[in-house]
Amino acid sequence: MLLILGLDGATLDLVEPWAADGTLPNLARLMRQGAWGSLTSTMPAATFPSWTTFMTGVNPGRHGVFDFTRREPGGYAVRFVNATFRKARTVWHLLSQADRRVGVLGVPGTYPPEAVNGYMISGFDTPVTTRADASFVHPPSFAAEVERTGGFPFADFQEFHVGPGWHARALASLCNGIERKTALAERLLARERFDCFMLLFGESDTAAHHFWSFHDSASPRYDAAGAAELGNPLRTVYAALDHAIGRLQARVPDASVLVVSDHGFGGAGSTAVRLNRWLAQQGYLRFAPRSRRAQLAGALRGVAVRAIPEQWQAACFRAAGGRVASRVESSVRFGGIDWQRTRAFSEELNYFPAVWLNVQGRDACGTVPTAEYQARCDELTARLLSWRDPVNGGAVVRRVWQRDALYHGPYVSHAPDLILDLATPRGYSYVGPPSLGADGAAIEALEPAMLRGGKLAGMSGSHRPEGLFALAGDGVAAGRVEHAQIADMAPSILTLCGVSVPQQWDGRTVPCLSPAAGERATGDAADVAEVAYGAAEEADLQRRLEQLGYLA
Ligand SMILES: [Zn+2]
Repeated sequence: MLLILGLDGATLDLVEPWAADGTLPNLARLMRQGAWGSLTSTMPAATFPSWTTFMTGVNPGRHGVFDFTRREPGGYAVRFVNATFRKARTVWHLLSQADRRVGVLGVPGTYPPEAVNGYMISGFDTPVTTRADASFVHPPSFAAEVERTGGFPFADFQEFHVGPGWHARALASLCNGIERKTALAERLLARERFDCFMLLFGESDTAAHHFWSFHDSASPRYDAAGAAELGNPLRTVYAALDHAIGRLQARVPDASVLVVSDHGFGGAGSTAVRLNRWLAQQGYLRFAPRSRRAQLAGALRGVAVRAIPEQWQAACFRAAGGRVASRVESSVRFGGIDWQRTRAFSEELNYFPAVWLNVQGRDACGTVPTAEYQARCDELTARLLSWRDPVNGGAVVRRVWQRDALYHGPYVSHAPDLILDLATPRGYSYVGPPSLGADGAAIEALEPAMLRGGKLAGMSGSHRPEGLFALAGDGVAAGRVEHAQIADMAPSILTLCGVSVPQQWDGRTVPCLSPAAGERATGDAADVAEVAYGAAEEADLQRRLEQLGYLA
């Protein structure tokens, strides 16, 4: 049997020292007995594309999931995606087809759940508006048991208003979530024999976003008073996760164990980079005269999502008829731009810095002739690379890729034209709040009030591309493994479960395992029809993403 424990956003930068000093005894043992190393995430190093690559073995150009949202082709609007937008088969499907018994709990990007041979509970992106709704589990009959035995926590605390006592309450809520998930997994593991069982903890990601300021005394956001009061809540969460690993492993002592994260983490700095303001200053983008519309849309979203009691939201969104959440999100990202006079623009996503060209014949109000596409990409790339931070004099952008240099497959066109790797001055990431108009500098220090707590600009930790894995069990050669990629996990999982690996996958079984027999599997394209969220589901998902700080 293979037991997989997902620690969202876990990084060796924390695990190595805490394994060495006794904080994480179970992870220390796994690393001593097994193979381990850093695991390069997808670009962007974001939760949806990376867990989707983890479970499909292919890059986002082949599975089609680049983010929580997808831009509507040619339009200036986005749509929230779900598992039916994924174009590649998962390991859960292949294991089920091979008659393996699987349990998959809490993996992002698995709503609606697949009809696996076993159990599936969708991830935090589950848009359940009421817990009586069984749509987040397979089989549906399992929902009542989940509820009866304490439920499966998603993102159950708000992250908008961070005031006195919030961090202590958040820590308690995260530890409670870890306990409830672990207890549910223990019950399932005690009940029957699985071939592959995965439980994912998002708590490590949430904790790192919010508690980095208490952990890292070198951070520009270091909160000495908070650290004196709270200690190191990030270490507390990691220790709770390590304890959970020990408990679950004790239930299935002969199982192989894979601990894996989708990306790593680091500190967020105190400097904002606003890509659309820079594009405006460079003459690529014009804000519409009344860009206050975008601010209004932002405020509207704030009102709609925050002020209306949760239980009324679904009804309100339903009454408004249609995809209000997508529409509002779209108007925040795109509302303030004069498209007829814009050649390039950014969605300004904090965790996915990227630029779209506005291309004639492709985009509704395209201005860049197709014949100029490559020249504009080259010109913009050169300008981005020569952009300097006025504070430290360093390059703002470390690297620029055209999308087909990063991705391959039929869905590359879902990606922005240019994908940026921003510098991390002194090891701390820039923050990317929306420009919302041309006023102000493209690079500016954030107000101290914006640095404290809360979502987006207030989050003290941010994603990094290097996640981790540790794998122990029969036939696993111990020692550090270099250059592993997240796409290597799916073939490794199949190999560990004795199921043949599709030859056409991008990932390769990690070298600490002997490769599979190499039997050719059938095509990996999923033939699932895309089913958009209903308005109520979409509103609920948006609220959840906002709670986790992903949306502005
Ligand atoms: Zn993540």
